[in-house]
Amino acid sequence: MMKIAYKKKRKVLQNLKNERLKKIRQGYRIILRLWYLEKLNEFYDNLNKVENQKNISYKEIMDKRILIIREKDRFIEEFRKFPIGCTICANQKSNLIYSPMHNSWFCPSCYKISREHNSGKFP
Ligand SMILES: [Zn+2]
Repeated sequence: MMKIAYKKKRKVLQNLKNERLKKIRQGYRIILRLWYLEKLNEFYDNLNKVENQKNISYKEIMDKRILIIREKDRFIEEFRKFPIGCTICANQKSNLIYSPMHNSWFCPSCYKISREHNSGKFP
């Protein structure tokens, strides 16, 4: 999977103004979101397959489950770095602001509201 590295302390602002480019970006975000959901389904399918295996011990099933769950959690954590939508309102259209403290993206209005309530965590 692609890795995106951001500086730890600084937030990242997107500043796209052209409406046509915004539409293209939105399409890209929708595709990424669908790919993400498909990948999550694969993890759950794999968990189901492992849990329904007949010829292995309970411990082997649990060991395999832990590996799949860890891999899924790593995937989710890594994917949060992709700017596919606002973490709070799921807006996929607007520019987004990355908060390194939350490892998440926010639309400007959700970021502003969050900042009003907790300025220490939203620089
Ligand atoms: Zn939002």
